[in-house]
Amino acid sequence: MLYVHIPYCHRKCTYCAFYSTVTAEGHQAYVDALCLELKRRRHSLEKPLRTVYFGGGTPTLLSVAQLAQIVEAIRNNYDTTALEETTIEANPEDLTVAYLSDLRQLDFFNRISIGVQSFHDADLRLLNRRHDSRQAQEALENAAAAGFSNLSVDFIYGLPNQSLEAWLDNLHHLEGSPIHHLSAYSLTVEEGTMLHQQIGQGRFVPCDEDTSLSHYQALLRWAADHDFHQYEISNFARPGHMAVHNSRYWNRTPYLGVGAAAHSFDGLNRRWNVADTRRYIDSVMSGPIEHEEEELTLKDAHNEYLMTALRTVAGIDKNLVAAPFANRLQHDIQRFVTTGLILDTPTHYRPTPEGLLHADGIAAELFL
Ligand code: SF4
Repeated sequence: MLYVHIPYCHRKCTYCAFYSTVTAEGHQAYVDALCLELKRRRHSLEKPLRTVYFGGGTPTLLSVAQLAQIVEAIRNNYDTTALEETTIEANPEDLTVAYLSDLRQLDFFNRISIGVQSFHDADLRLLNRRHDSRQAQEALENAAAAGFSNLSVDFIYGLPNQSLEAWLDNLHHLEGSPIHHLSAYSLTVEEGTMLHQQIGQGRFVPCDEDTSLSHYQALLRWAADHDFHQYEISNFARPGHMAVHNSRYWNRTPYLGVGAAAHSFDGLNRRWNVADTRRYIDSVMSGPIEHEEEELTLKDAHNEYLMTALRTVAGIDKNLVAAPFANRLQHDIQRFVTTGLILDTPTHYRPTPEGLLHADGIAAELFL
């Protein structure tokens, strides 16, 4: 698995707590550094690549020529003969007919994940998104017309002032759209974000828990009625369209992440590049790539696995539980089995729909 991080955005969304930068300069230097990092770390992944994910930031802020340069570096340095899924995250305003046509010419990406977030202009303004609802609709139509047959959209619910009807209206917009995958996240207001500050100033009232829960429950009903199968708390797919790359993160598959702030995981060690584009470029070009790393203890790895697996419909695979902790887990999880939050099957501890709602709390109680 390969993750390529493009940290640039046109502007900062009010809720965003990711590392991203809005500078319009230095993009080509960054692309050159990325290509060099891809070459320098080509031995970090021994096997043929199965999935590649360009995430951000906003990867489609780069020109198609710059994306082509990165794709060429991947093809030159990695075995791409077994690729199953190649995703690029995109913002709607970038997905013009011409851009999508050039992207298709690369003959590399087979999946686009589009950050729609809402079809309501008032929501988009509140979130400081650059696109409007018309551009969001056009982006979906343009991507399908360009021949992309695996389209995913991202939505956020539980926004300040968002009624249940407005959220349902967003979902109704998707009916008849050519999409195959939906990621819908409950808004989390993180400290340090613009939205956190605005709420502190009294400009917006955050959505209360009951309303957010009603949005989630409406989402579950809508998904079931429209052939979108939930496979993770925030992810829904039409048959055959589960996100392969993201699902493998949850199974602790090793991956290489390149770019500023990108994380890598080799099965036991986690490493992350410096979260500063200038320092990243300088270090890649002149010496050791500036990064930090930590070795996960078996206990940390176990806790991390519980946390991610309990958010999936499949649940905890008993074969992936570290042997020294298997008996303890079997014992400790029984209280959630008794209360109907977990099903104990021969192969998995599977959260029930109610259990999925409490995934983080259950995981926290099972931590070693
Ligand atoms: S586009 Fe994505 S990464 Fe960029 S500011 Fe918005 S939420 Fe953050």
